[in-house]
Amino acid sequence: MIKLHDLQFIPFITENEIVAAIDKMSDRLNKDLSDKNPLFIGVLNGAFMFVSEVLKRFQFDCEISFVKLASYKGTKTTNEIQELIGLEDNISGRTVVVLEDIVDTGNTIALLDKMLKDKDCKEVKVATLFFKPEAYTKQIKIDYYGIEIPNKFIVGYGLDYDGLGRNLTDVYQLKSSNMTNLVLFGPPGAGKGTQAE
Ligand code: 5GP
Ligand code: MG
Ligand code: MG
Repeated sequence: MIKLHDLQFIPFITENEIVAAIDKMSDRLNKDLSDKNPLFIGVLNGAFMFVSEVLKRFQFDCEISFVKLASYKGTKTTNEIQELIGLEDNISGRTVVVLEDIVDTGNTIALLDKMLKDKDCKEVKVATLFFKPEAYTKQIKIDYYGIEIPNKFIVGYGLDYDGLGRNLTDVYQLKSSNMTNLVLFGPPGAGKGTQAE
């Protein structure tokens, strides 16, 4: 068990399991995108480890860029996602692959999909290391995902709890005895609709 700030987390997914999932996904990316010269777009901060592992495995021409998004979830109103570092590349006509650490509600992916299509790219594909199908509220197809997880808050392998935990190589899950506090007091980044990075 580990403690980050005020919360306890228990081991959930090992680095070996993560690497195996990335290997599998990368095989598919190599098959599908060999002649597309894809532009990979990593979503900061959470995707940095995943991006580097995918890129190391992609064997054909490709480019990489990053966006940084932050979401502010009010307690009573709808979600608003702000672009902190935007897209500078000319993506017109390109095959773009969005690389996300985790898809939760899908708000971030939906916004990015729209931003990219507005810039006239040829196709947008989504590749995410983790996917929470129970939390997902959008129609956009998740073309590639590494590991499906239940709707619980995780940290490690790039994902944080309030800034901590990104450097952990294994993934940890919020210990359920913390859950009562989360539901009652709702600290940042907990539960459904957690913060985008
Ligand atoms: P969505 O917009 O799909 O609801 O959420 C996407 C973003 O929320 C992710 O990129 C990630 O930054 C954050 N997020 C969602 N679920 C989790 C989680 O279980 N743990 C952490 N650390 N961040 C999460
Ligand atoms: Mg993210
Ligand atoms: Mg976060």
